[in-house]
Amino acid sequence: MTGRGRPQAGNAAPRRTMAFSFRSDSPEDAGFRAEVRAWIDANLPADLRGLPTRPPFERAMWWHRRLHDRGWIALHWPREHGGGEDSLDRQIIVREELARAGAPEISAQGLYHIGPILMSHGTDAQKRRFLPPILSGDELWCQGYSEPGAGSDLASLSTAAHVDGDHLVVTGSKIWTTWAHHADWMFALVRSNPEAPRKQAGLSFVLIDMGAPGVAVRPIRTIAGDDEFAEVFLDGVRVPMENLVGSLHDGWRIANALLAHERLVTANPQLLHDALRRTREAALSSGAIDDPGFRDRLAAIDIEVVAFSAMFAHAAEIANAGGSLGVEASLLKIAGTELLQKIADLLAEAAGIHGAMVDGGGMEDDHADAALVLLQTRRATIYGGSSEIQRNIIARRVLGLPS
Ligand SMILES: Cc1cc2nc3c(=O)[nH]c(=O)nc-3n(C[C@H](O)[C@H](O)[C@H](O)COP(=O)(O)OP(=O)(O)OC[C@H]3O[C@@H](n4cnc5c(N)ncnc54)[C@H](O)[C@@H]3O)c2cc1C
Repeated sequence: MTGRGRPQAGNAAPRRTMAFSFRSDSPEDAGFRAEVRAWIDANLPADLRGLPTRPPFERAMWWHRRLHDRGWIALHWPREHGGGEDSLDRQIIVREELARAGAPEISAQGLYHIGPILMSHGTDAQKRRFLPPILSGDELWCQGYSEPGAGSDLASLSTAAHVDGDHLVVTGSKIWTTWAHHADWMFALVRSNPEAPRKQAGLSFVLIDMGAPGVAVRPIRTIAGDDEFAEVFLDGVRVPMENLVGSLHDGWRIANALLAHERLVTANPQLLHDALRRTREAALSSGAIDDPGFRDRLAAIDIEVVAFSAMFAHAAEIANAGGSLGVEASLLKIAGTELLQKIADLLAEAAGIHGAMVDGGGMEDDHADAALVLLQTRRATIYGGSSEIQRNIIARRVLGLPS
């Protein structure tokens, strides 16, 4: 889809070049895009390209550190915290070029979730202590919200925390905690006041050292065959009061601010571009591309991805300017994740009978890995709040329907 415009003789203003999404690059941005593309080509090794699942932990962190060394790990962070404070256009260009090259996903928990929360709600000491190792990749974070009895109805969680001098003592368990078995720290919601009149009012937001006595982790294997998440058991874990974010019992407000960030990141168009690229490759390899009906469906989805990218950029602009995303985050979460699953279905169709085989079944271009992508994308409409829950939010806040 890339169309490169050549400057025309006699034209004072140089023509803008087309990006591969809805936008067109200014001449400066086109230069930046070329720089990013050349750097990725030279630095992203073959074993990290086009993977249908996340790479092994060590390789993923290696790629994190490469991006950090280049200064492109946190283009969205303010400069005072070590980020690039780059324009939205540049952030989108880097994401698009990473998608084009089939680069692996970077763990979002530190860079997109707890990092921005600490910047807006953390103490100066917390910012100094925790932000630099998030950027450098020296410390990995996980998110301890869900529990065996609390997922969609998060506020009913029961992991207990009671004050003991200058510590909170935490006992309970968390589940579906992404990469908990690799993480150094967990940000968690805990019940600090079981007597509160509203269940939301009794929660606190704490930072838990995963190496502290009383923390145990058990990985869970997913339907796609990877150890994506884990159970976390907390048995009398002592958390210093200085690791409380916000004030005691004010965790719900902070957790909600974070969920909007999370929904925005979950809907990241990089995943859509990546899935679309795989679909085109599989269709070319299998011959599905010769079917006009298939080409119609591919073109329709391509247009949807472009439209979604525009919607995402608008929301990212609001978030970057410090605005809060409410219903927009829910809309994006639904649109982005359901579109991702639609592309995965088309990818399986493109792969034909090979779409049922996890190793590509000997297809000439078995990088399509259609079955793995299909299985991987099932999760997207669940994590960060399921599609049903997002629709409930829209029904309540936009349509004014009763809860
Ligand atoms: C890949 C993956 C990674 C995850 N990573 C993390 C993580 O790092 N940290 C973390 O804390 N959690 C994580 N989660 C958990 C995720 O947030 C929960 O799975 C999700 O919130 C749903 O909760 P549940 O699984 O308890 O399902 P339930 O809440 O039991 O829901 C079951 C079904 O009922 C529907 N449902 C429930 N209530 C309603 C309602 N009121 N109206 C209509 N439908 C409803 C749901 O949509 C769903 O289809 C992850 C999940 C996945 C799949």
